Formats: sequence, C-alpha cells, structure tokens
Amino acid sequence: MFIDTHCHLFERSDKTEVLERAKQDKIFKMIDVAFDTASSFSCRDFSSKIKEVYFTAGVHPDAAKEVSDKTLNDIKMLSNDTKCVAIGEIGLDYHYEGFDKKVQIDAFIKQIELANEVKLPFQVHSRDCTKDIVDVLISQKAKINNGAIMHCYSGSVETAKILLDLGFYISFSGTLTFKNARALPDVCAYLPLDRVLSETDSPYLAPVPLRGTVNEPKNVKFVTEKIASIKGLDVDVVANTILTNAYTVMPKLKN
Ligand SMILES: [Zn+2]
Repeated sequence: MFIDTHCHLFERSDKTEVLERAKQDKIFKMIDVAFDTASSFSCRDFSSKIKEVYFTAGVHPDAAKEVSDKTLNDIKMLSNDTKCVAIGEIGLDYHYEGFDKKVQIDAFIKQIELANEVKLPFQVHSRDCTKDIVDVLISQKAKINNGAIMHCYSGSVETAKILLDLGFYISFSGTLTFKNARALPDVCAYLPLDRVLSETDSPYLAPVPLRGTVNEPKNVKFVTEKIASIKGLDVDVVANTILTNAYTVMPKLKN
C-alpha cells in the first residue's frame, strides 16, 4: 500500500482514469494539495466525493498577495472538514521575477499561525529561498506544535538537520530519482526513515523511468522504490513506514 502525500488532482480532465490506475497500483490514499483560496474549495469538494482523496487548504507563495482576513477565515472554515489533513501548500518561492519577499513572508507566517490555531500540520513549498525559509521557520518554532512537512525536498543534509529539529517530516518526489539529483540520495540516506514521506507533486516531476511524461499518483511507487534502494530495505517495509509516518503527522488521514 502506497500513499501520495502531495499531488494536484481536482483540475485534471483525466482524473477518473488517473484514480482508477492509482487504485490498481495500490495507491491507498492521496492528498490533493491546494494553492489558493479557490482551489482550496475545489479540493474540498473533490475529496468529499472520492474516498481515497484527502485535501489541504492554503495559499501558495505565488498567490501570497491574495492573503487577507477573509482568505484566512475561509481557510479556517475549510480546515474543520474531516478530510482537510493539513494547511498548505504555503511557503516562499523566489524563482520567478516580480515576487515580493515581504508579502510572501507575511502570508507564510499568518498561515503557520493559522495551522497552529486549528491544530493541523502544514505543508511547505520552498524554492530558491533556503536562508529566508529557515530563518522564518526558526523564528516561528513556538508555533510549530502539530508537525510540518517539507514537500518536494531539494536541499542539503545541513538544512534537513535543522528541519528535523523543528519537527519536520521530509517528503521526496520524483526529483530523488533524477540522474542530477545531486545531494538528495545522501539526504535520504541520512534521514531516519520515521521522518520520511513520498509524493508525486503530479502532474509535475514524473520520476525515472517516466521522466518527461505527465505525472500521476500511481508513480509514487517509483519514489518509494528509490528510497528503499537507498536505504537498502524492502519496498513493502518502506511503504508501510511511510504510511505510518503520514498517519502520525496528518492524523486526519485516518478518517
Ligand atoms: Zn505542489
């Protein structure tokens, strides 16, 4: 049994087929991750119809400008849903021109506070912003009481150590399987297995051997297999541990 802890499903036109293939390949549960207020509502609606699908509510750094009291109230309301397992994806992204660091940091902190208030973990998106994200997370340490997940981890062993100390789980995506994965296999080897998660971030980042295709939740098994081969463990053992980890940090997955 596998779990995809981070994917984007609701807006796919082929979701019926994608869900059927996931079922056939023993993908037991999937978390459909929102990136703004509108998608938070859509993910909620979609998850309410499909037993295997759970969701997050939150605003991605690229949409940070839309975070207002009204937005935060909407996310808070959605967070009460039995299938809302985390706040996310939230964080910082300095990749594309035109971002506003202050607006992003402010939106990130407000949503960390919200997660703390509603007693949910949060899923973090981090791109080209390592120093700032580590600084923000350390400054918010007192508000990280319900766990947190660093999604699609791409950092160093040193950063992973800081995140572990803050109570984070580290989630690997297809990038772990890429030939240019650089330090990632070392990070995976270093991490205790009880703090590791696996995801697809589909439709993006299809793992080897399907790199370059449209990704989907069934492919999480390739990420899990890669973790197992790095750890020198049986795939079933790794898959079961990841499922237990996901239940531990996102207890509403048991609903
Ligand atoms: Zn994502």
